Amino acid sequence: MENIIVIRYGEIYLKGKNRAFFERILIKNIRYKLKDFGCKLHAGRSRYIVSDYPTKQENEVVAALQTVFGIHSLSVAVCVPNDLETLIKHVCLSAPDSGTFRISVHRGDKRYPLTSVALAAKLGAAVLSAKPDLRVDLHTPEHTVWVDVRENGTAYIYGKVINGLGGMPVGCAGKGLLLLSGGIDSPVAGYMMAKRGLCFDAIHFHSYPYTSEQAKEKVIQLASIMQNTCGKIHLYCVPVTQIQEAIHKYCTDSYMITILRRFMMRIAAIVAQKQQCGCLINGESLGQVASQTLESITVTNDMVSSMPIFRPLIGMDKQEIIDIALKMGTYETSVLPYEDCCTVFLPESPVTRPTIAKAEEEEAKIPDYNRLLSDAVNKIEILKISQSETC
Ligand code: ATP
Ligand code: MG
Repeated sequence: MENIIVIRYGEIYLKGKNRAFFERILIKNIRYKLKDFGCKLHAGRSRYIVSDYPTKQENEVVAALQTVFGIHSLSVAVCVPNDLETLIKHVCLSAPDSGTFRISVHRGDKRYPLTSVALAAKLGAAVLSAKPDLRVDLHTPEHTVWVDVRENGTAYIYGKVINGLGGMPVGCAGKGLLLLSGGIDSPVAGYMMAKRGLCFDAIHFHSYPYTSEQAKEKVIQLASIMQNTCGKIHLYCVPVTQIQEAIHKYCTDSYMITILRRFMMRIAAIVAQKQQCGCLINGESLGQVASQTLESITVTNDMVSSMPIFRPLIGMDKQEIIDIALKMGTYETSVLPYEDCCTVFLPESPVTRPTIAKAEEEEAKIPDYNRLLSDAVNKIEILKISQSETC
């Protein structure tokens, strides 16, 4: 008998001729996650098997697999010879002592001498005679014991299905650039896009010394936690101090955030193009704050025509976003009270219905607009993020 972990993938299953492409990326991502456990991964048809891991690390292996997008579910199973006597023994061990149950048999090996229904009936009868307090319920059982009869004379037996993250394997949908603030929303936006197979780098705008070194450290920490599920992230840190000072000096107060956001979008698009990122991602949610009204989004969106801007949180409530932040482990870091550059020089009443024409008029008041833009791009600091200790 050997302990194994059965991995099932989800949506990839629906892919046609190019399914192998998605599977290759999923397998690569799984292997990367398991690299420190010294275990084996066998890729079969529509399911993968992890074996040869130290039993005492089983929970850790399962936890690592639960951070891989593209995995629909997992089961810790025993792999046993598939003769009837052995199957009966192990099915009895997996079954509970009381309540209702069902045996669910799947035969990968159609040459097996009993049909799935006949084998389930035999195993069920054996369990009932060993555990008289159990009752069979084929429709809504409290417990199911799964028996998967394989081609090589073995069978996998398990009693629990553990949810994976679902989604698509990270890397199968290309690369984007995430606008990462220190807040709650933008890490969640990155996570949602990684779930659809996008890998991404991140760009952060800071206003040092108005914003602190700790504020930057917080963003580094967020990126590090995100790497646990979203893959390797390079972080581009852009100083916008001089841009903010110029905006403060020349522009109408109520447009300060709008103009800063337009600068941020333009710089992000330049960096994305340089780094072969095909889209921008941000954490905007419609109506959440003044800078996220339809009009504000229209005015900032106007700065980027070369690529799509994905806003996966656009229709989500704050609580829904927080729930995901808690699940992905970024919430506690996001709520640390360090200021963002957008909170420096905050106007008393930011415009909620800006127009492109007025924004352009305000920008025209900044004498060295293009130099400020290229200076910020030239001063970008590129950080490689090491894996979070907590993951
Ligand atoms: P978050 O919780 O992500 O900070 P928020 O509710 O504070 O979002 P805003 O400050 O309006 O919302 O920011 C909207 C989006 O703009 C953010 O989700 C992020 O993608 C981007 N953004 C804001 N500030 C920065 C920054 N300093 N650096 C990079 N991106 C930023
Ligand atoms: Mg913010």
